[in-house]
Amino acid sequence: MELTGDTSLSAAGPHGGYDPFTGRRSYDPSRTRAAAVSEDGVVLTVAAARHRDTDGDGFLPSPHGHWCMQVELLDCTPNPEELVCRAARGDYSSDWVGSDVPFAEVMEPVEGETLEEKKRTLMDHLMRSGHWGPFEHPSATFAVRGVSRSCMAQITRHRHASFDVMSLRYVELSEDEPLEERFTYPETFEADEVVSREGAEEVEMPAAERTELADEVYKRCIDAYADLVDAGVPKEDARMLLPIGTKVNLTFSMNARALMHLLNMRMKGDAQWEVRELSETVLEEAKEWMPYTFDRYEERHPQPLSP
Ligand SMILES: Cc1cc2nc3c(=O)[nH]c(=O)nc-3n(C[C@H](O)[C@H](O)[C@H](O)COP(=O)(O)OP(=O)(O)OC[C@H]3O[C@@H](n4cnc5c(N)ncnc54)[C@H](O)[C@@H]3O)c2cc1C
Repeated sequence: MELTGDTSLSAAGPHGGYDPFTGRRSYDPSRTRAAAVSEDGVVLTVAAARHRDTDGDGFLPSPHGHWCMQVELLDCTPNPEELVCRAARGDYSSDWVGSDVPFAEVMEPVEGETLEEKKRTLMDHLMRSGHWGPFEHPSATFAVRGVSRSCMAQITRHRHASFDVMSLRYVELSEDEPLEERFTYPETFEADEVVSREGAEEVEMPAAERTELADEVYKRCIDAYADLVDAGVPKEDARMLLPIGTKVNLTFSMNARALMHLLNMRMKGDAQWEVRELSETVLEEAKEWMPYTFDRYEERHPQPLSP
């Protein structure tokens, strides 16, 4: 595939890269925008390196200096990779794999010098052979703060996840909060040149004017909402005046296999930037939780998750 346009992220290197054939990506936080356009004009990646969580505190800082979103691994199955292995060993052996049997004993027939090596041998075999069932046993719960309702709508399409979402039937928004804490400002509101699905383009409206316009509309929306609430209109109705860029917090839980499927779909180059950033941050958290599994996943994604 021939790449045209700004292909600076199309080759892995010191500035980070995106490989359109494998879907793998690496980043440099200093990059703010890049695109690789295929010969048929499809933009493979856009603004990929924005808002990276450079200090690892789970916050993604925005160019405004305020936070964009926060992701935290809230809770998870302990010893998840041991659980995967125990479950898988039960597939290949008539021996009992219950917790009263030491893990070393369960893993005894598996190739490897150490228990860690045996775990890796078995999990690698499972992943390579498309035996994903055992990865459905461990689950993790993620807390997410400050994504737009647009991003929320995308992530909640995944039916194997369980969600709790901040409800604007119960939560009342305040018109006194800074706008950028309540509403999402995409980089395209500020950048001189933007990369959309159609390719790289100059934006004719000056950045300051765009930001001003966004501020104005967001302010008008929150003020009108507050006026209705003050007048006695129920919050569940007044919220109709709030835009899709309104930020929301949510909590979601998934098993490891379902999470890999979500990441397959939402880390793709043509996924929307915000849900992609959310997915990439979730992947970082998942690597802390199941290091071997999600490191391998990252190396090989997108992964075919059915045999
Ligand atoms: C780049 C991108 C663009 C998109 N654009 C649009 C759009 O324009 N409009 C739109 O409506 N959506 C859009 N989507 C959402 C997309 O169509 C899916 O609804 C969403 O990604 C959920 O993924 P999934 O279908 O794999 O299902 P998940 O809920 O994640 O389920 C995982 C898998 O389980 C199986 N499964 C789950 N439920 C069923 C079922 N009821 N029947 C059969 N199999 C099932 C399927 O194999 C499925 O792939 C887009 C997604 C992406 C990534």
